[in-house]
Amino acid sequence: MEWMEKELETLAVASLERSLREHGIVSGLPDYMERGGRTLLNLSSNNYLGLAEHPAIIEAMREALLSEGVGSGASRLVTGNRSSYGRLEQALADWQGCEASLVIANGYMANTGVIGALVSRGDIVFSDRLNHASIVDGVVLSRAEHVRYRHNDMEHLRSLLNKYRDHRRKLIVTDAVFSMDGDQARLRALVTLKREYGAMLMVDEAHSGGLYGRRGEGLCRELGLQGEVDIHMGTFSKSFGVYGAYICGSRTLIRWLVNKARPLIYSTALPPSLVVSISKALELVIADHWRRERLFENSRLFRSSLRAAGFIVGEGDSPIIPLIVGDNETALRFSSALEEIGIAAVAIRPPTVPDGSARIRFSLSAVHSIKELINAVDCIRTIGIRMGVLR
Ligand SMILES: *Cc1c(COP(=O)(O)O)cnc(C)c1O
Repeated sequence: MEWMEKELETLAVASLERSLREHGIVSGLPDYMERGGRTLLNLSSNNYLGLAEHPAIIEAMREALLSEGVGSGASRLVTGNRSSYGRLEQALADWQGCEASLVIANGYMANTGVIGALVSRGDIVFSDRLNHASIVDGVVLSRAEHVRYRHNDMEHLRSLLNKYRDHRRKLIVTDAVFSMDGDQARLRALVTLKREYGAMLMVDEAHSGGLYGRRGEGLCRELGLQGEVDIHMGTFSKSFGVYGAYICGSRTLIRWLVNKARPLIYSTALPPSLVVSISKALELVIADHWRRERLFENSRLFRSSLRAAGFIVGEGDSPIIPLIVGDNETALRFSSALEEIGIAAVAIRPPTVPDGSARIRFSLSAVHSIKELINAVDCIRTIGIRMGVLR
């Protein structure tokens, strides 16, 4: 096992080692977190709508826990498929206006399971270079050919579709909102290309489900492309504030996945109390449009304040706002300096992002107040100047 210590040392020297740090919640203050006895403004959570500590969701879960017990006891195909699943999947299909839906334990398993069920040897997957790691792993597991196109570069994708037009089945897969950059996929162009080349299109709405659309249906719905996307994936772990993932599509697709998606077949069903709490979260996602309005207001304000302070921040309206600093060590020092003055904002380094693009990834929530965000930008500016990121 000595090789391991050597390799870990190499990681540490390159400021690339990761470690697990503990943090707690601050009761009654969902915009804060606790670390090492200190209270920090949390600017790095995916709890976009502030639902993670919602009393109605907690109550729904508590009741279900008392009536249904703790664990589900088996895979859904064995004896784990409680009635709460059927109710949730019906509600999801109604919400998305599609024929059917399927709940899978989490986003990672949904992406690996679904891609593995759709393609195999002799098939090909066209995947945006900045797609989430769970998509990459899904393609690798599927054994299909893996072709990555330059980020959002539709001309590059078209040339690859031309080059590989003779493969058996083709799948184009993309994040709707990219998790580390916050920009949007070019969904309209992707729909045009998928039609032209007879490919399937899969969209991952992990960072857009709950956020876009009048009822939080996601970016596909907001753009009126719902009917054009063959496989629609989203998670309950971010804007829903809970845990889990969903696939929406045709009845045939769901029937296929029940037979072929290995993470569904060979893994224990989610605890029933969790499924019930997701149903409650879905009601709130649909009803509480004010949470989306507040979130986007916060995002606009934070972006424009960072720009006014002299930082370069990407276009777009999403609550994911990266501040790219370049090298790994600067990103880590920036994050530590922020923590010292009371702000939790994580440094994201390769391989999560491309080499040389280490960054502080801010992600906002509806629970932040305007005042907190303006104060935070002041602090970020001071540190930016001190560290030479800002002149
Ligand atoms: C977070 C994320 C996932 C994984 O979802 P989990 O439910 O956390 O496993 C998948 N895709 C994207 C784009 C994500 O950001």
